[in-house]
Amino acid sequence: MIVGIDLGTTNSLISVWEHGASRLIPNCLGEVLTPSCVSIDEDGSILVGRAARERLQTHPDRTAAVFKRYMGSDKTLRLGGKEFRAEELSALILRALKEDAEAALGIAITEAIITVPAYFSDAQRKATRAAGQLAGLRVERLLNEPTAAALAYGIHLRDAETRFLVFDLGGGTFDVSVLDLFEGVMEVRASAGDNMLGGEDFMRCLVDYFFEQRKVPVSLKSDHYFLQSLYAQAEAAKRMLSEAATAAIRVVHNETEYQLDIDEQALERICEGMLRRLRDPVERALRDANLRATELDNVVLAGGATRMPMVRRLVARMFGRFPSCDINPDEVVALGAAVQAGLKMRDAALNEVVMTDVAPYSLGIDVSMTLGDGSLSHGHFDPVIERNTPVPVSRVKRYYPVAEQQKQLQLNVFQGEARMCRDNVRLGTLQFALPQLAREDSGVDIRFTYDVNGLLQVDATVVKTAHTHTLVIEGNPGLLTEAEIAARFVALSELKIHPRDRLEHRTLLARGERLYQQIRGNQREWFGAQISAFEQALESQDNRRIDPQRREFETLLNEAEHDSFTIR
Ligand code: AMP
Repeated sequence: MIVGIDLGTTNSLISVWEHGASRLIPNCLGEVLTPSCVSIDEDGSILVGRAARERLQTHPDRTAAVFKRYMGSDKTLRLGGKEFRAEELSALILRALKEDAEAALGIAITEAIITVPAYFSDAQRKATRAAGQLAGLRVERLLNEPTAAALAYGIHLRDAETRFLVFDLGGGTFDVSVLDLFEGVMEVRASAGDNMLGGEDFMRCLVDYFFEQRKVPVSLKSDHYFLQSLYAQAEAAKRMLSEAATAAIRVVHNETEYQLDIDEQALERICEGMLRRLRDPVERALRDANLRATELDNVVLAGGATRMPMVRRLVARMFGRFPSCDINPDEVVALGAAVQAGLKMRDAALNEVVMTDVAPYSLGIDVSMTLGDGSLSHGHFDPVIERNTPVPVSRVKRYYPVAEQQKQLQLNVFQGEARMCRDNVRLGTLQFALPQLAREDSGVDIRFTYDVNGLLQVDATVVKTAHTHTLVIEGNPGLLTEAEIAARFVALSELKIHPRDRLEHRTLLARGERLYQQIRGNQREWFGAQISAFEQALESQDNRRIDPQRREFETLLNEAEHDSFTIR
């Protein structure tokens, strides 16, 4: 059985293809969205999902979120004195999802389709695959998120002939894809995006606005606890403004309350720069697909951040029509991943469906150019595979060394669209000896092979000797070697994951701790006593005592959340 996994910046989901349809699998709390958060408990055990998210405010130095942003980089996050790479934290999320699926389906899960932003680079994709390996999963395929969203929609429209654009704004990334659907063939015509733009940035804008508007002591700007509480409030206000006209951000610190009221128009004004950034990839994708906005039959929304009314208005203005959101934007990518799993398992219900994707950015090498006066200009980018070429693809180009009798060739590989390499992303370097011949006899064939997972292989063949060199990415701190993955797999396996059957209680307690920090005075004392009472009931390990206490405690938490509780 192959599962589909949407490993999101904010939330992750797991799905299966069953009886000719996609199904999301709920976690042990009965929820299909598992927050992409990891926390280390005081006893050293790992908490994943909602329990960890609740601890972001109360235990910020033991909890991590939004680490998808650091995939493919060397950055580590410190949790309770231990260092973790983004792959490892992602692996813990994947492990929790895998266990949820195993509990629901009653079988071992070893293979998965994992979705990635279309605009994820080679290093970010390799890191995602490594995260799968670290979680004990064979990654059958890395599937681009907007392509997955298109699959989820396309499966319902498979008899139609239609052309649509997927507008996917997640927590940390923005992707656009233009698709053609024709007789069961789903063809991605073009993809574009921005790897560093997502719903989290809108929240951060709101945080900056809060600091601008409210006089807050400078020391609080670097206070972990204050910031986490502010982020949580800003996030809640941002979501509130998707449904209501106004919202408030209220943070209490040492008996002082800082409050900011904000309305939807103000949010739109302060996020204007980001809304402008959403336009570029849309225009690029349409240009590459050779289409005008009016030639599209439909615009489909994916990613939680498309719930923001200002984003919907922008889409409506750009396309002259209201976007389609028949499928929940939080769930559409995971549902599409399950369709891909069904395709991989050659399910009969998907017999006629074929899916093709494209390379979202150009891939090429660093070359020198001879100028009109005979001098050399270095550092130019020469694409071998142009963006939006259908994948899989393999292209070869012949290059010659700059000098006569050159001994060595250093080949620098880049991705991007800029004219000069310094403005593109460096992927790696390949260095090898040349047979020291005349320039015209020293030709080297450079082959780029880009597979359906978006992973690149570079081979260089010295034509005269037929000797082939394959790119081994060196000095790229963002990547783990196979040996490192194996070692880290062992280390991660030794970490104790909080037992699933006790996670529900742990989540309630973490939520209680967070709410405790938000209230004051004698309310606090009374609320603290309620938390202790629930803890005591748990210690009794007697379900007859625990169950009613749990229900009562949960009601109390809900009331506290809505500011409506009274001391009984
Ligand atoms: P995803 O990565 O698709 O899970 O997207 C999550 C992003 O969507 C986060 O930045 C959330 O803040 C944002 N989001 C989810 N629900 C809403 C909502 N109702 N209003 C505004 N943003 C939302």
